[in-house]
Amino acid sequence: MSHILTLPSGDQLHYQLERRQRRTVGLKITATGLIIHAPKRISQSHLESIIVLKADWICKKLAARTANLIPALQWQDSEQLLLLGNPITLALGYDNRSRAVEYEPGLLQLAMPNHDDQVAVERKVVQWYKKQAMTDFARRLEIFSTKLGVSFASLSLSNARSRWGSCNSRKEIRLNWRLLQAPPHIINYVVCHELAHLIEMNHSAKFWAVVASIYPDYKLAEKELKTWSPKLHLM
Ligand SMILES: [Zn+2]
Repeated sequence: MSHILTLPSGDQLHYQLERRQRRTVGLKITATGLIIHAPKRISQSHLESIIVLKADWICKKLAARTANLIPALQWQDSEQLLLLGNPITLALGYDNRSRAVEYEPGLLQLAMPNHDDQVAVERKVVQWYKKQAMTDFARRLEIFSTKLGVSFASLSLSNARSRWGSCNSRKEIRLNWRLLQAPPHIINYVVCHELAHLIEMNHSAKFWAVVASIYPDYKLAEKELKTWSPKLHLM
């Protein structure tokens, strides 16, 4: 059931109430907003006093959720994409032959017979990003592996939803192609992080000391990467 509660601050809080067989009040922030699971016998006034006590936490969580709601990419002309942290415009046109993707600063040009087929456009753009990512990441790995005095076996691209990079005991490094959308210093951080795993295969203090030796500001970069994540996953 849908409810509205006016908080002491004057703000109105909307929530869904679900009465359950349980002893405590549970709060959940979902894509549709706040859901409260309450014991069957708790009175409405008692419940509201509990909500008021948790109002700060609830409002903070709801605000964070709103901030992460970024509209999905539309694979059509003039759409804004990201490349190395900068916005670039997708220029989409018709051509009776499928043309190679052309890039000039700020503009990614695509011409193809089915330019209004969003799936086909997406496939072509992603293919281009992957190709660029391979070249870009290889160059960064080269620079930082020399700096750290380590060698890696191979680089490949990953498509994982949950992680930006990985490294195994065979010294194979995988980096998520979506990182190419992030600012260069963030890509450098992920590269350094994975290279450091060639020396320390864990996240111990020793490991972070290795990271710091080639990337001193890693804590800030780690935070920034988290902030960028929702945007990088749009593609
Ligand atoms: Zn790691």
